[in-house]
Amino acid sequence: REWCVALPKVELHAHLNGSVRNSTLLELAKQLADKGIIVFEDVKDVIMKNGRSLPECFKLFDLFHILTTEHDTVTRIAKEVVEDFAAENVVYLEIRTTPKNNEAKGMTKRSYMDAVIKGLKAVEAVDVVLFDSNSRTNDTLACTPTIEFDGDTMKKRIYVRLLLSIDRRETTSAALDTVNLALELKDQGVIGIDLSGNPVVGEWETYLPALQHAKELGIPITIHCGEVANRKEIQAVLDFCPQRLGHVCCLNDAEWKKLKSLMIPVEICLTSNVMTGGAPSLELHHFADLYNAKHPLSLCTDDCGLFSTSLSNEYYLVAATFGLTKPELFHLAQEAVHFIFADENVKKSLKEVFKHAEKRFD
Ligand code: 5GP
Repeated sequence: REWCVALPKVELHAHLNGSVRNSTLLELAKQLADKGIIVFEDVKDVIMKNGRSLPECFKLFDLFHILTTEHDTVTRIAKEVVEDFAAENVVYLEIRTTPKNNEAKGMTKRSYMDAVIKGLKAVEAVDVVLFDSNSRTNDTLACTPTIEFDGDTMKKRIYVRLLLSIDRRETTSAALDTVNLALELKDQGVIGIDLSGNPVVGEWETYLPALQHAKELGIPITIHCGEVANRKEIQAVLDFCPQRLGHVCCLNDAEWKKLKSLMIPVEICLTSNVMTGGAPSLELHHFADLYNAKHPLSLCTDDCGLFSTSLSNEYYLVAATFGLTKPELFHLAQEAVHFIFADENVKKSLKEVFKHAEKRFD
């Protein structure tokens, strides 16, 4: 396990509000309970419960969103999430989050994202590199070719980028607003669009105009695909051919074949899929099939808070379940660099990180 913690890693599928520390959620719940807004004991039981079905997860997100609704709280959780990933040697992190309008709190999608970005900039424990080197001339860090990730003598460094999520409950117009916001914030670390939210809610046709708009703007897209067996949508998503896909659990043989021929990189979320029933067990998870087929993939956490996991733990589970050796795990982590949405300069820097680390991880 320590070896997996020390391994430099790339995280491509992490939802901000699903990655909040339990201790922070409990503290926030206590504050709301003191104001008489919620009953602490009820909320505590829900937060600390182990094992959740997919519908339970989405109910829980509604609760998390009540707890994290203030701008300052959004800033705090964004800061802590980066600190937590950096602490386990994640060297490149794409955090995805749904920009939210909340009139009662004076929150707009823009002000929500400003609060998230403020949190990333507030991290002090590690150096956070938030901008693409060609979008900010004053960002000297982003031009530095190598990263010291083990930080004996200097601070750890982590590249962080943001993906804006479209929630499946949103209207076409709200989804378009999110894509336009991504464009507006492209100099502030936002580099992609995600489609997520409860997979039994909404219609593909509702989000398609926004996804099409993002495609036309050249914004990379990742889509939650096949969390439930919605044949029509899985087909439409594969036809849309985004840059990456999340989950791909419930594909039939023909869809599986199509995915493999398209070679779309897959964000694999083992613990999440087993907990929510997308995969029958770790042993029977489709990771093995994709890995053996040499399909492009990357291990991810999805919601490390919600599912009580970490990226190191996901690597450990792969070793323990499928018997991957240390060099194979190292290679798996290294290969994820190819699927990041950040620019070539970042890829080059990360390749150097792994090259540098290789000697220590043989
Ligand atoms: P947020 O976008 O508020 O930072 O993170 C929580 C949101 O991410 C949830 O409300 C949901 O829309 C989305 N999300 C988190 N985990 C999952 C998942 O496993 N599947 C899907 N489809 N959406 C998820």
